[in-house]
Amino acid sequence: ALIISDECINCDVCEPECPNGAISQGEDIYVINPSLCTECVGHHDKPQCMEVCPVDCISKDPIHAEDQAALYQKYLQLIG
Ligand code: SF4
Ligand code: SF4
Repeated sequence: ALIISDECINCDVCEPECPNGAISQGEDIYVINPSLCTECVGHHDKPQCMEVCPVDCISKDPIHAEDQAALYQKYLQLIG
């Protein structure tokens, strides 16, 4: 999964781009629900939130590190 850093400026550009509805407005900054983030695997070639974020504050979450196979399995589970 990916994670949003505290450099987030709350611009709301990323939220509508997420194919999994994983992004929401948190208490201070936008947040990614790691159980819903497939790093866009199954939907797009590149993480869409990273593509659109104007301040590049989204990166891989080391606490929720997953390989391509695990991300694809998550995608399959999410689409049911
Ligand atoms: Fe959503 Fe993709 Fe960003 Fe994960 S990488 S939060 S699935 S847009
Ligand atoms: Fe924050 Fe970047 Fe999303 Fe804007 S696009 S809300 S700066 S994470």
